[in-house]
Amino acid sequence: MSQSDSFDADVLVVGAGPAGLALGAALADAGLHALLLEQQPQVALEDPPEDGREIALTHRARRVMDALGLWSRIDPSEIAPLNEARVVDGGSPQVLHFGRGSGERDGAHRGGAQPLGWLVPNHRIRQAAWAAATARPGVQVLCDARVDAVEREAQRATVTLADGRRLAAPLLVAADSRFSATRRLAGIGAAMHDFGRSVVVGRVGHAQPHAGVAWECFGYGNTLALLPMNGQRVSAVVTLPADRAPQWLALSDAEFAARIEAQAEGRLGAVHAAGPRHHYPLVGVYAQRFVSHRFALIGDAAVGMHPVTAHGWNFGVYGVEVLARELAAQRRCGGDIGGPRALQAYEREHRHTTLPVWLGTNAIVTLFTDERRMPKLARRAVLTVAERAPGLSRLLKAGIERQLTGGGVAGAAPH
Ligand SMILES: Cc1cc2nc3c(=O)[nH]c(=O)nc-3n(C[C@H](O)[C@H](O)[C@H](O)COP(=O)(O)OP(=O)(O)OC[C@H]3O[C@@H](n4cnc5c(N)ncnc54)[C@H](O)[C@@H]3O)c2cc1C
Repeated sequence: MSQSDSFDADVLVVGAGPAGLALGAALADAGLHALLLEQQPQVALEDPPEDGREIALTHRARRVMDALGLWSRIDPSEIAPLNEARVVDGGSPQVLHFGRGSGERDGAHRGGAQPLGWLVPNHRIRQAAWAAATARPGVQVLCDARVDAVEREAQRATVTLADGRRLAAPLLVAADSRFSATRRLAGIGAAMHDFGRSVVVGRVGHAQPHAGVAWECFGYGNTLALLPMNGQRVSAVVTLPADRAPQWLALSDAEFAARIEAQAEGRLGAVHAAGPRHHYPLVGVYAQRFVSHRFALIGDAAVGMHPVTAHGWNFGVYGVEVLARELAAQRRCGGDIGGPRALQAYEREHRHTTLPVWLGTNAIVTLFTDERRMPKLARRAVLTVAERAPGLSRLLKAGIERQLTGGGVAGAAPH
């Protein structure tokens, strides 16, 4: 045992989703022993099925994934560059551009040749995270292990599993999804924003090349995002009032493709279905605190974003980087890794990074999904002013691109 014989690990992590696994890998690289507790069986983690999520990754997320050995474990044929994003509202001819097609100045801002980001299927990220974490001797994953209770004393955190086993460490980290039961067991509340909407997502093939362009089409009735994948395929993400999701799920493949083709307004040419449809209710979550006594939250358990600004996993990776860095610093100076110093530093930095985007995302979603006349006029004005007023346009785009490259706080991204 690393700290004391009475501990089962340096850090107990609840949840072996991508955030928990990436944290395990980062802690192992810092010389810490991480024990991950996951309720699902091993087979669901090592070979997860396609789940319809295409994750837009920022430059910073890629850098961290590279350092942890996740990036090199993803087949390059599954990584699609995101060259440009375009936003359109209803039938308006106004298009807001981000990235390569948005003018020389923006290209110069990003050094010209770099894509805005990359799109990678979520199940490939999960698979890579599993392989990277379990390749490290410092990471142990206990599957079929559901955490049912949490106790914290002065020097330790202890969990009780559904089968009665008890495990202890100086620090407990919850990475058990946006509806984290462990967060609640630790007495931390969360702001929850139920958008009353769902996404229905499915891959489609199409006749015309997409050129690495993502489209966000804010229509009236539903929103359609078209996310470029490698080859002549996009992920079609339909955001709609939750009560209409069953109807979209019940469509035949041909009916679904016809609707996407019509709403894409000729941008992709003829469309056909190229995979199953999946469905996610949209609930955003922001924890009131990210840390408490011998306890920290990471991944969606800390910040569960609406996918429109494509930040959920990106924030998960940023959090992993910061928490692991602070714990490693404590370990190097012989400090208590479960003590308040490292945890508070993580809390400060992660909140500073995520809170403005959380608030901004919710405001964008509210504005762009409100079907009343005034909000419709307001969003048309936002797009027009953003595209035509050079100063504002530059500021807005620079902020958004900074977000995509992982360099700061601000606005929206595609999805
Ligand atoms: C449609 C959609 C599109 C998205 N697009 C993007 C995007 O473009 N960019 C982006 O950055 N993000 C995106 N996201 C968000 C991203 O998918 C999530 O942020 C990420 O998957 C969360 O990972 P996680 O490890 O925090 O949580 P999860 O993947 O939810 O993992 C939690 C794990 O904890 C386990 N668990 C739960 N409770 C317990 C317990 N009591 N005991 C033991 N184990 C437990 C679960 O079994 C699970 O394995 C999108 C999400 C959706 C729904």
